[in-house]
Amino acid sequence: MQRAAQVPPLAISHGQGVWLYDEDGKRYFDAVSSWWVNLFGHADARINAALKDQLDRLPHVMLAGCTHAPAVELAERLSALTGGVLGHCFFASDGASAVEIALKMAFHHWRNRGLTDKREFVCLRQGYHGETLGALAVTDVQIFRNAYDPLLMQSHQVMSPDARQALPGESAADVARRAAAELQALLEARSGHIAALILEPLVQGAAGMATYHPTYLQAARALCDQHQVLLIADEIAVGCGRTGSFFACEHAGIWPDLLCLSKGISGGYLPLSLVLSRDSVYQAFLDDDVARGFLHSHSYTGNALACRAALAVLDRFEDEDVLARNRQQAAGLSAALAPLQADPRVENFRHLGMIWAFDVKEPLVGARFPERFHLAGRARELLIRPIGRTVYLLPPYLLNDTLSPWLARQVMATLDDVLNQTPEDAARPPEPPTA
Ligand SMILES: *Cc1c(COP(=O)(O)O)cnc(C)c1O
Repeated sequence: MQRAAQVPPLAISHGQGVWLYDEDGKRYFDAVSSWWVNLFGHADARINAALKDQLDRLPHVMLAGCTHAPAVELAERLSALTGGVLGHCFFASDGASAVEIALKMAFHHWRNRGLTDKREFVCLRQGYHGETLGALAVTDVQIFRNAYDPLLMQSHQVMSPDARQALPGESAADVARRAAAELQALLEARSGHIAALILEPLVQGAAGMATYHPTYLQAARALCDQHQVLLIADEIAVGCGRTGSFFACEHAGIWPDLLCLSKGISGGYLPLSLVLSRDSVYQAFLDDDVARGFLHSHSYTGNALACRAALAVLDRFEDEDVLARNRQQAAGLSAALAPLQADPRVENFRHLGMIWAFDVKEPLVGARFPERFHLAGRARELLIRPIGRTVYLLPPYLLNDTLSPWLARQVMATLDDVLNQTPEDAARPPEPPTA
């Protein structure tokens, strides 16, 4: 088996709010929202009630030749959240399938318009879009990609606007402009062959919560318009309020041509994904000739339970002013984490919406840092999973004046535990799982 399997998995028996409980009754704060999917905690009363109701009505029906109220209502409400700009909605079941759909749709849309040469994709360095073959082809995270490289279609990778790359004297906006200049050069040379640019707006999650300035999105939008290239926003991780606005693109005041949504949309309950699109994309497929149509389906596309969970999520956003409440909650956690900004052992402290991250300085990291930090976190009631030397917090939207100071204290104590380990401690493999 893989080495990572040496870390004994936590056997979780139940969850409530921010807490997960293992079979021994020990609790863990879910500081990564179960891989960024959970929004309102585990076993949320409102989502549970909606699902129980839906379970007795209609758990699932195929979305071919049939439709159902939760799917229709979800499509309408999401479209309304874009002010109607992205007025069409294609359903699927997980993030990678939404990315596949967006890529296929972008290519096919140009083909239907007679521009058959436009079949290449542009993506950002260190971007992540999922792990099926199409999504991997526009992903630049080597551990996921390397083994499959010979199988992947070629894509163009351009500079990431990651603000950490600032040269002395450069601002985050300067880095964004430098990255946009590289995109511009590529599109000027090659746009006749390029179908779409795909990117994660504002935060490259799997790159270690790499944040960048919204000016890059504005430049990318303008360049795509100028060069007849579609813009695909992968909001699978950053959507649903994570960055402080419902969609991350709103920070830049732009809309993409295609927008992928998954993860948080069902509150972290069930697999569901959607691709929202502009009418201009939709119109390219509207024809009596079936070959011009977009044929793509997954068995559980638009699952009724998942759609109903998503409606309960949107209800909460509407009824409870989640975005305003998150701003308050975030201020509390930011204040509690302030000592890290002055900590000489860390660098690049960053915060956006309900995402916090910092990097441990390279010379201090040592072997197997993510694993050691994760295990030390467990001992302090944290479920936390650094990426490389980046420690990040992406908590459910349930922080308060008690939880935030507690969470910050535990994270800083875990950092002390890990950085105070002797090299011998650090080298010792984790305890094997007890039978
Ligand atoms: C998680 C993620 C995906 C893939 O979603 P899955 O549901 O895991 O297939 C794609 N893009 C981004 C930005 C993600 O964070």
